[in-house]
Amino acid sequence: MVMPKKVGHSHSLKPHPSQCSLQAIIIGGGPAGLATALLLEQRNKISPIVYELRPEPTTLGGAIGIPSNGTRLLHRLGVYDELLTRGSSRSHMTMHSERGTILGETDVVGAAKEATGFGYMRIKRTDLLEVFLKAVDNAGIPVHYNKRLVSITDQGDGVKVTFSDGTVDTADLLLGCDGIHSAVRRVSVDPAVSADYTGMAGIGSIIPTSVLGEDAASLLSGMHITMMQEGMAASMTCTAKDDEVYWGFQREVSLPNGENDRDGWEVRREQEVAGFKELLHGVLKGAGGQWGDILRSLVDKTSVVKFYPIFRLPSGGTWHQGRVLLLGDAAHAMPPHAGQGVSMALEDAFCLSRGLGRKQNWARGTDDLNEVYETYDRTRRPRIDEIAARSSGNATLRKRTGRWGMMFKEFGLWMFFHGSWALGMDKWGSEVKQMVYDIEEVEI
Ligand SMILES: Cc1cc2nc3c(=O)[nH]c(=O)nc-3n(C[C@H](O)[C@H](O)[C@H](O)COP(=O)(O)OP(=O)(O)OC[C@H]3O[C@@H](n4cnc5c(N)ncnc54)[C@H](O)[C@@H]3O)c2cc1C
Repeated sequence: MVMPKKVGHSHSLKPHPSQCSLQAIIIGGGPAGLATALLLEQRNKISPIVYELRPEPTTLGGAIGIPSNGTRLLHRLGVYDELLTRGSSRSHMTMHSERGTILGETDVVGAAKEATGFGYMRIKRTDLLEVFLKAVDNAGIPVHYNKRLVSITDQGDGVKVTFSDGTVDTADLLLGCDGIHSAVRRVSVDPAVSADYTGMAGIGSIIPTSVLGEDAASLLSGMHITMMQEGMAASMTCTAKDDEVYWGFQREVSLPNGENDRDGWEVRREQEVAGFKELLHGVLKGAGGQWGDILRSLVDKTSVVKFYPIFRLPSGGTWHQGRVLLLGDAAHAMPPHAGQGVSMALEDAFCLSRGLGRKQNWARGTDDLNEVYETYDRTRRPRIDEIAARSSGNATLRKRTGRWGMMFKEFGLWMFFHGSWALGMDKWGSEVKQMVYDIEEVEI
């Protein structure tokens, strides 16, 4: 066991929950990092300490959809009840055509809700993080902000991290939960792997439904998807009271100046944000019916949007090295089109916790810890590959298409909603299976 040296923080810290238990350093205070911290504390008698790059506990906007496999794990973590008071549990989805007709309607979790007892949740990212941070705080787990990782040193009987402010910490294991552009991956586990641009980007915002007037507000409840020639528009209520809606438009966007460089993206971001009304009114010109009017109102009533190019990690990277393991997006960031990123991070955390629980003596030597990490890799990789493949498949719906291609796409979607039912097929078959999956029931 390695005792952590206390880092020199300028703000007051809670005492570390246990100064004599096993220690884990967690880099990154997003869903993967905070869920892992809670689980290690609750189930493995490991004292975690979280280091977060951002200066304070805020995060990017947007709203996250979490299906049954994820909501069940949120319940086991003890945060679900509070999340239910904030997020929307509406799982009804309506697919609209460009002309404004309804192509189909469905429940996105379908039979998975009956099978698991857990439904769908759409919640603002800030609410999700706030509830997690409250639980972490109640558990006495320290979270330190403004911490930029510089180096990781394997010391044989432990691992040492150094931050840019000169502070260091040591622990028995180090978990890289620092997202798609992970510094832990870059400086230690797999420096050769970096994020690829998917060719798709989105623009969107969260606004109160009340600004659209009562009639439109009630029509917005749940999820609405509209296929357009230029891409895909979506709106989703994201609060328990249905009083806020997340809307967004995803489409193909070329690399700025043909290159994936930061400055080019910054210029593109400024252009997209400044000209979003003009851009979207152009895109929505052909959107007909009452739904077309609602989409235009959403744009008109929005004053601030976010632009986000979508990146992914190539599959097949290395996930562990010595005492260091990657979880969540740091290991396997995928495009968000399967709506499973947070759930995959939660499953990672539960998988690791189970593995550590089975090898009580893992801290004594790196062989046992390596076995835990190997088990994690073996268990998670096929599942991640399957979900990533579905995510890439779903991206096709967002691609630009001509008038004929659009008719073909809409007919395909109509058949998907109506034809499979007529043929007695379970149209959500494989997706339901993915949502019923329980990481705690999987043999490891
Ligand atoms: C537009 C969009 C829509 C999405 N929609 C959905 C959805 O509907 N459903 C869903 O499940 N998923 C969705 N996702 C994916 C989801 O957001 C991620 O899969 C999920 O947030 C992964 O959690 P994470 O903790 O691994 O990474 P992150 O959420 O990226 O958290 C990483 C944390 O690490 C911090 N960090 C970064 N670098 C460092 C460093 N060097 N040192 C310390 N800390 C660091 C970051 O500040 C951040 O707090 C979406 C993603 C995008 C981009």
